[in-house]
Amino acid sequence: HAQKPAAGPRREPVEGVKHIVAVGSGKGGVGKSTVAVNLALAFAARGLRTGLLDADLYGPSVPRLLGIEGKPAMRSDGIFTPHEAHGLKAMSIGSMLGPDQAVVWRGPMATSALRQLLRETHWGGLDMLVIDLPPGTGDIHISLFQQVALDGAVIVSTPQDLALIDAKKAIDMLRRVDVPILGVVENMSYFVAPDTGTRYDIFGHGGAKTAAMRLGLPFLGEIPLVMTIRETSDAGTPVMAGNPDGPEGEAFAAIAGRV
Ligand code: ADP
Repeated sequence: HAQKPAAGPRREPVEGVKHIVAVGSGKGGVGKSTVAVNLALAFAARGLRTGLLDADLYGPSVPRLLGIEGKPAMRSDGIFTPHEAHGLKAMSIGSMLGPDQAVVWRGPMATSALRQLLRETHWGGLDMLVIDLPPGTGDIHISLFQQVALDGAVIVSTPQDLALIDAKKAIDMLRRVDVPILGVVENMSYFVAPDTGTRYDIFGHGGAKTAAMRLGLPFLGEIPLVMTIRETSDAGTPVMAGNPDGPEGEAFAAIAGRV
């Protein structure tokens, strides 16, 4: 049995931020960033002053998802002014890098870069900050969880077994560091063919819900595999910004309501 890392006494709030929710996943490519962005937009649609911090150092996708370009402005005292897009304040590690530049930092460098993005940004009064975590479980997660007063984490999984096995590891880590798990979202839950309306359970529907129940975690909802989710994300106007009243928008809004 691995040792439980000490939770530590120094979990500090972020200045000017009331609530912080992290979005994580066991592995990459399950739609964690898609859920994080749409969840943040859904909070904003509920009238909450909302920010989004892209902490996915190895695959930052928030600039593309929100159509953000360039670096954030920096005040004369060295504090960043976040980008604003679709009513969100956003900071991404991706904005600090060139388009083809990879992050090659080791753990401590990555941790301090993240700390700077989080704490040396003038968030200017937020009700809610959503953090898009890197996939999996690593140094960055542990230091973030030990140093930041989080309200909790949402886990995104596909219905597939492998994703769930990885998701279970993420859940185990959160429990060890005493971060409340707000619940599980099943993404790419099923596919409805746009021409015939036939529904296909491509990855086997319901796996995440079953696992959540077995683990005693709230199940927050399911998001189908829909081409418009991918297309609107690539175009920089995610569904919750462009078409919040459609079925996919309603699914994200319902999940935000349960968080
Ligand atoms: P992660 O953050 O877990 O790596 P992303 O959110 O970047 O995953 O999603 C991976 C890819 O899958 C992106 O191209 C995204 O647009 C697409 N995608 C995510 N969720 C859905 C969905 N429900 N329907 C269609 N495409 C999706």
